[in-house]
Amino acid sequence: MNTHTAELHCVNCHASEQDTPLLHLRSNGNELWICSQCLPTLIHAPQKLAGKIEHTDRIKPAPHHHE
Ligand SMILES: [Zn+2]
Repeated sequence: MNTHTAELHCVNCHASEQDTPLLHLRSNGNELWICSQCLPTLIHAPQKLAGKIEHTDRIKPAPHHHE
């Protein structure tokens, strides 16, 4: 694993793990990190992360349970 642990940043907003908890993702063989604040975007509006995470067009947005 060549992810250097000293500088992990959210793939979307570039927050560091010192700023906010980061969650590890794998996408198409790539290792990515996303922060807890951007995770809802990935779940509910993955198309907003197009260009940052590959193949977001293949992800079906999850519906809000309270709708
Ligand atoms: Zn983020």
